[in-house]
Amino acid sequence: MIVGVLALQGGVSEHIAMLESLGVTARPVRRPDDLVGLDGLVLPGGESGVIDRLTRLFGLRAPLQEAIASGLPVLGTCAGLILLADRILGAAPGQQTLGGLDVTVQRNAFGSQRDSFDTVVDVAGVGAIEASFIRAPIVTAVGTNAQVIAQLPDGRIVGVRQGNLIGVSFHPEVSGDSRLHSAFVQSIAARV
Ligand code: GLN
Repeated sequence: MIVGVLALQGGVSEHIAMLESLGVTARPVRRPDDLVGLDGLVLPGGESGVIDRLTRLFGLRAPLQEAIASGLPVLGTCAGLILLADRILGAAPGQQTLGGLDVTVQRNAFGSQRDSFDTVVDVAGVGAIEASFIRAPIVTAVGTNAQVIAQLPDGRIVGVRQGNLIGVSFHPEVSGDSRLHSAFVQSIAARV
């Protein structure tokens, strides 16, 4: 199994290490050709406005949107969730998303870098996992096509799923808990 990690900016190496620890071949994706033959894709955290601009600069925007539309399983963490959302609040000037998840996401919903925190989040179908929230977004509205898979105790939505797309506000790869990646890999294996 080959799982790509969009490698334009942000926390790429943590995802690659985590996928490899699960016995998966992880491939950094920098050019459209890198998408060929992938069984799944991770969109990492970072700065979603920067990643958005770089996808256009590197000719990756349309190929990524085609891959998503064709049903490629995609896991987006933090900025990756923002890239997958159909609608964003607090976008950088000119910022676009790839889309795919019928949700609205609020960027930087927990305040600044200093307001970053770690906590345990219960993810449907995965269990309670260790999660780092780093200038994280939250999901403020969920359309009829998407499903909530994770909420904080106060009800704020931090994980959603729609078909083969999963988006979470937090970074399981930073806290080192591989169960979400493992569930993602297993769901890919079940399709292959
Ligand atoms: N605040 C970032 C953004 O809006 C996301 C932060 C992260 O990925 N850790 O893109």
